[in-house]
Amino acid sequence: MNKGKKLYEGKAKILYETKEKGLAIQHFKDDATAFNNQKKANVEGKGVLNNRISEHILQNLNQAGIKTHLVKRLNMREQLVKLVEIIPIEVIIRNIATGSLTKRLGIADGTILDKPLLEYSYKNDELGDPLVAKEHILAFNWATIDELSKIEETTFRINDFMSGMFRGVGIKLVDFKLEFGRLWENDKKEVILADEISPDTCRLWDVKSERKLDKDRFRKDLGNIIQAYQEVARRLGIMPETTNISEVNFKKPTSISIKKK
Ligand code: 5GP
Repeated sequence: MNKGKKLYEGKAKILYETKEKGLAIQHFKDDATAFNNQKKANVEGKGVLNNRISEHILQNLNQAGIKTHLVKRLNMREQLVKLVEIIPIEVIIRNIATGSLTKRLGIADGTILDKPLLEYSYKNDELGDPLVAKEHILAFNWATIDELSKIEETTFRINDFMSGMFRGVGIKLVDFKLEFGRLWENDKKEVILADEISPDTCRLWDVKSERKLDKDRFRKDLGNIIQAYQEVARRLGIMPETTNISEVNFKKPTSISIKKK
């Protein structure tokens, strides 16, 4: 499949046009960013692992009847995806309190929540993706009430599915972020899961040791980022197609830059 022109470049991925109507190529970069782009690094091999892990999870969701943008993985770094109109909200679901929730509300880190907590933020880098209420989403027409119902129902289903999948391989699904998009087919609109699901977008803790197996290793300078992502792939029973993971010369993140405010 030939890549056309670049449609969009985000912090961790690039979207390219294809000749096929309604389809795009999503390329996973090795770039890692945190704290609204203030901390940046190149983590060699991250894109390969996220491509494979996200493919695995989205394929499983598709098989469970949850519609996603994934068509198929094309190679080590690219996926063929359905082009959707991205809804400008991030949906966050939490099973254990940590991260911004604990900072914002003073809840003790690691508190197990009685039931999953769903939060929304407005997808806007300049504003730092601020937390918003459902009322803001409706007031500013970022999504309709029907779309939000579908998003909430799908998010809870995904949380159930993924919690079980990770629990089965000794990993706690602490929290994660989802994005959704509108897919138009024959004048009919459907809201489907878009974007990736990977250790970049989830918090994953080892059940026994609570060792972090996700992007917090980068955010908090814990080191061994790639080893942690590899561990997730290994436990899920997947590794990049060559299995010559050694071909991807994993090394420490390079070019870390932290911008001072
Ligand atoms: P928190 O709000 O605690 O920083 O993040 C909650 C969860 O959502 C974490 O799993 C985090 O990785 C994910 N998340 C929230 N916002 C973003 C984002 O802008 N990019 C990525 N990759 N993940 C995010």
